[in-house]
Amino acid sequence: MTLILNHQSGKQLKSHIRKCVLATLVLSSLVVCDGGVLAKEALSAAAMTPLQLVQSGRYVQALPAFKKMALQSPGDASINYYLGLCAMSAREYDLAEASFCKVVAGTPPASPFVPLAQHQLQLLPHKYAPQCALTNGKLYHWQKGQQLKVYISDGCNVPGTGMGVLSSERYAQTVAAARNSMASQPMVHDYKQGDQTLVLEGIKAWDWAVREKYFSYTFVRDPKLADIIVMFTEQPNGCTLYPFAAGQPVLSWASIGSAGGENTSEEHANHVKMIMAHEFGHCLGLWHASGKMDLMLPIIEFVGDKTREAPDAMTSENDKASLRALYALPADMIL
Ligand SMILES: [Zn+2]
Repeated sequence: MTLILNHQSGKQLKSHIRKCVLATLVLSSLVVCDGGVLAKEALSAAAMTPLQLVQSGRYVQALPAFKKMALQSPGDASINYYLGLCAMSAREYDLAEASFCKVVAGTPPASPFVPLAQHQLQLLPHKYAPQCALTNGKLYHWQKGQQLKVYISDGCNVPGTGMGVLSSERYAQTVAAARNSMASQPMVHDYKQGDQTLVLEGIKAWDWAVREKYFSYTFVRDPKLADIIVMFTEQPNGCTLYPFAAGQPVLSWASIGSAGGENTSEEHANHVKMIMAHEFGHCLGLWHASGKMDLMLPIIEFVGDKTREAPDAMTSENDKASLRALYALPADMIL
């Protein structure tokens, strides 16, 4: 019955795949109603649909068909899940992990495939626990390999922004103010000259993904040219917002919330760097994680931990698995 339920949720299947699934549904019904032995025995492997091969335990034989389907429908949770099972059986563990990670990253957590994929991932070598990358039900990411132009303001912020959701109108106004008159925007309280450099160091947390060619980045001096505009906030948390329309930049706020008070300059530097590293994960399209060692946890647990300060130590293996999975999925909005 689980299999039948699963396939009712596979709405995005292309027509020929849909036919295949419908045929399977009919046969699955026969299995349920009539015991199924006759239906199974009557079919040779060649006559079986990929799902029937899986149902009869012939995972390796079903693998080529699921590989083909995953190319045609890379965001389909059911196909990715069965591809993962088949790849696992064929000892193609990298493919199995990548497929299950895609299920978790691209599917609402309420889907029955998510806990199934999470369980399978724990049986595989890396034991990845990726995050769901959906932000308000949508997947956002850049074109893979794109060079991102990043502008970091010199401590300025557009008044009235910095935290929380903006309406589309307010977003457009903020973008216009940031693009056209950033230099004349007020500087946030407690901003120090070196904070711009700390933002830059935070972004380096994602340099591993540059090496893996997911994106590259360069810094621009003119906010009009930027894909990502970084401003500052004195709030304790940073914030990142996605555009409403094509051509608008992503807006991100680096927090210097601990600049004053009793914090040492070292604690301050660590705070700015870590929060920006987290925000840049959002800039790349990631949503929040739940693992204590993950940079994308809403409240970073390891701020101040010296072993996590080096650029390559800031992201966890789960953060990495999430980003790789996100960029293997079709986006609802290409940033
Ligand atoms: Zn966050």
